[in-house]
Amino acid sequence: MPSSPAARAGARRLSLEQYVEGVLAGDRVVLARAITLIESRLAADAERGAQLLDSILPHIGRSRRLGITGVPGVGKSTFIDTLGMHVIRDCGERLAVLTVDPSSPISGGSILGDKTRMERLAADPHAFIRPSPSGGHLGGVARRTRETILLCEAAGYRNVFIETVGVGQSETAVRSMSDFFLLLMLAGAGDELQGIKRGIIEMIDGMAINKADGDNLQKAERARAQYESALHLFPPSGDGWTPRVLSCSALNNTGIAEIWQMVLNHEAQLEASGKIVERRTRGDLQWMDDLISMGLEEMFRAQPAVAKRLQVLRRQVHDGLVTPLAASRELLGLFRPSTNKQADPH
Ligand code: GDP
Repeated sequence: MPSSPAARAGARRLSLEQYVEGVLAGDRVVLARAITLIESRLAADAERGAQLLDSILPHIGRSRRLGITGVPGVGKSTFIDTLGMHVIRDCGERLAVLTVDPSSPISGGSILGDKTRMERLAADPHAFIRPSPSGGHLGGVARRTRETILLCEAAGYRNVFIETVGVGQSETAVRSMSDFFLLLMLAGAGDELQGIKRGIIEMIDGMAINKADGDNLQKAERARAQYESALHLFPPSGDGWTPRVLSCSALNNTGIAEIWQMVLNHEAQLEASGKIVERRTRGDLQWMDDLISMGLEEMFRAQPAVAKRLQVLRRQVHDGLVTPLAASRELLGLFRPSTNKQADPH
């Protein structure tokens, strides 16, 4: 990869022009620094990050965005490694891999971050891997991932994979930023449909039964057939695509090319019907709503009167002296939106 003047600037602070030039030139070092910039919580960085995103706007929207979810252990990293290598070697395309992994409110740590993952992709110059920003709530993590997608697109990555774990709201967030949302599953022991989470089935464009190899092969094929007939029980999605269920072995690289073909078929169908634009527009509107909600909450919490009273009321709710409803009403009553100083949602 050629090194741009911006990369040669080393650890020095980059100018906005250097960021823009480096990202558009596909310089991985500058891209990584640009992502760090938009992840920063410093006000000065936020301003510069927003300017950077504005500057690259004409160069975005050109990637294929694949969201991937599944419980820990299903084989997501192995799958992404194998599929990613297929995309690079057999299709001659570059890809970026991002993760949405808000720190767990229970464990405090992230689920995806703590092991060596995707070894082949990590060593391949055609892949760019960026883990989830550390420590944060879903809203913030999702916002930064959306912006990182734009930076990767501007840097010329034809494919962006966005991985998440099958927990909570992160799937909804990743679905809203992907063109195709894939669920990885395992063949279970008993009734396959028991493990199906209704909410997620309605979100997916495709399912892959992973680890269809060795002794597991027949079980996986049975599970595939059962899931496929179960999917017919759900109303068709508005975009005219019927979700499909395939099986694969990420470990042995079987069924992987077929899964990629399914993603391409979906893209071709939605592009022909114009539904892809609708889907992205829906995602953008959702993003805008999320930014407004986050901005409002930040403004609310930044007000000294609110911040002070919040501490007291939290304690009182904790001790059962005040109801949550009464406390929230009092706090919202203290909120005075400022007219001259807008909180920056970045
Ligand atoms: P993740 O937690 O969802 O990212 O799962 P990993 O990719 O780390 O895989 C969990 C375990 O399953 C690892 O030991 C993998 O080697 C194994 N694994 C992943 N894919 C396959 C597969 O297709 N077949 C078999 N037999 N094992 C697999």
